[in-house]
Amino acid sequence: MPKWLRAVLGVAGVLLVAGGAAYYWFVVESTMPSDVEYVFDIGEVRRAVAAVPGDKPQRIEVEHIASFSFPATAIVAGDGWSSREMPVFSYRLVYPDSAIIIDTALDKALGGDNLVSFSEEAYARMNAAMSQAALVMVTHEHMDHIGGLTVHPELPAILPNTRLTVEQLAHPERSEPARFADGILDGYQPLSYDRVTVIAPGVALIKAPGHSPGSQMVYVQLQDYSEFLFIGDVAWQYRNIQAQRQRARLVTQFLLKEDRNAVFGQLAALHALAAAEPEIAIVPGHDGEIVGQLVEEGKLTEGFTLAAD
Ligand SMILES: [Zn+2]
Repeated sequence: MPKWLRAVLGVAGVLLVAGGAAYYWFVVESTMPSDVEYVFDIGEVRRAVAAVPGDKPQRIEVEHIASFSFPATAIVAGDGWSSREMPVFSYRLVYPDSAIIIDTALDKALGGDNLVSFSEEAYARMNAAMSQAALVMVTHEHMDHIGGLTVHPELPAILPNTRLTVEQLAHPERSEPARFADGILDGYQPLSYDRVTVIAPGVALIKAPGHSPGSQMVYVQLQDYSEFLFIGDVAWQYRNIQAQRQRARLVTQFLLKEDRNAVFGQLAALHALAAAEPEIAIVPGHDGEIVGQLVEEGKLTEGFTLAAD
């Protein structure tokens, strides 16, 4: 073999190995680190909820507002390049004479070309429900959860009923392209709490920074004592918890700027919770299968019902 050919092949080989290593690192690798720590104490959450008297929610409704489509490996590292649906949901906790909205999806303009479906009807029902709601909150400050709030036509009237946290408002760049209009948050008092707080009978917020600084989980205990944990995007889909695997590093590092270790800790805690308390319905941010199953079991009701006015 001529010397030059040997050199060319050598360089090509090095590039191939380096490329392969980079591909593995950024697209496939998702080993649970050994030093994760996240404390999820379900006893603490239940005690906090039990200490707040009042009627708890009677049922939970869900609206499927829109869908994205992601390659599987973006959702669960190593799962390949086939397309997976990423539905965007809004939830309504229904009390005897009021309601709470969890997550406000996004409008069609915010989603743009990234959306593969959008329901004008569902979005209109969510908007109307937000206007009527006693409380509106979001699991985190990303545009597909806070976006519907930022562009709501009656935002000034709704804002006093929102419970946005200090962390969710501290990093407005995390919400882009969603953003609150200039000055509209002047004088707004964001919610500040440590670890766990109860914001209404049967509803607790649990701090879970990592996916974003303002990420939190929402624990809901209904009047019949059935329990739900809306985990936002700690996991996009239940498979993240089951397989204990994260999104691809390409997504967590460059797109989301996640605290990857923190999210791993939360995945481990949720895995342990699911084993210890299988009756709690853990609801990931974008899992159509889990939501469909809960609807089928009668634990979630499809579509927001609105008070006649
Ligand atoms: Zn999301």
